[in-house]
Amino acid sequence: MFSIFCNAQNGKIVGKIIVNDSENIKHLPKNIYAFLKSKTINDSILLNENLEFKFENLKADTLKLSFSVRNYPTNMYYIIQLNENEIYTADISICPVCPYKNSEEKPKCIKCGKKDKVIPIVYGFISKVYFVNKKGKKVDKNGNEITTKEKKYHAGGCLVSECQPNWYCERDDTEF
Ligand SMILES: [Zn+2]
Repeated sequence: MFSIFCNAQNGKIVGKIIVNDSENIKHLPKNIYAFLKSKTINDSILLNENLEFKFENLKADTLKLSFSVRNYPTNMYYIIQLNENEIYTADISICPVCPYKNSEEKPKCIKCGKKDKVIPIVYGFISKVYFVNKKGKKVDKNGNEITTKEKKYHAGGCLVSECQPNWYCERDDTEF
């Protein structure tokens, strides 16, 4: 006779992300996913607005719990030893300080310590389009003459998050 408990999958992991410093909550991305992995499970779930999550119908297992917080070490995970029918509470406190300073002035490169090869990173599409007016002068789409020479940018791509590097050193290929 089989015991019903052999196939019991009533374990749960319920938890939430607790931000230690409420000032830092703005550095958290809007959509955070919790990932749950084991030899038999590969699951992910979007945290709700209260940063809560719940995994249900789990059997006794050793599980890895991790989160998709971009500026949080991605190799960071929590090992959970879940027992049969256990409801495991995982309250994870994090302190998501953004490592990138949002400086207006050109900073020194964090690698070579020099400013000469540091250029700003621009996110989104960079328009290279200009027009030529009747006088043969370069103008923008509104007809205003373009007097400044074209600035040099490092294209950061189209992904814009709350926390991203603002400067790029051409010498070291470093974003900071
Ligand atoms: Zn450098």
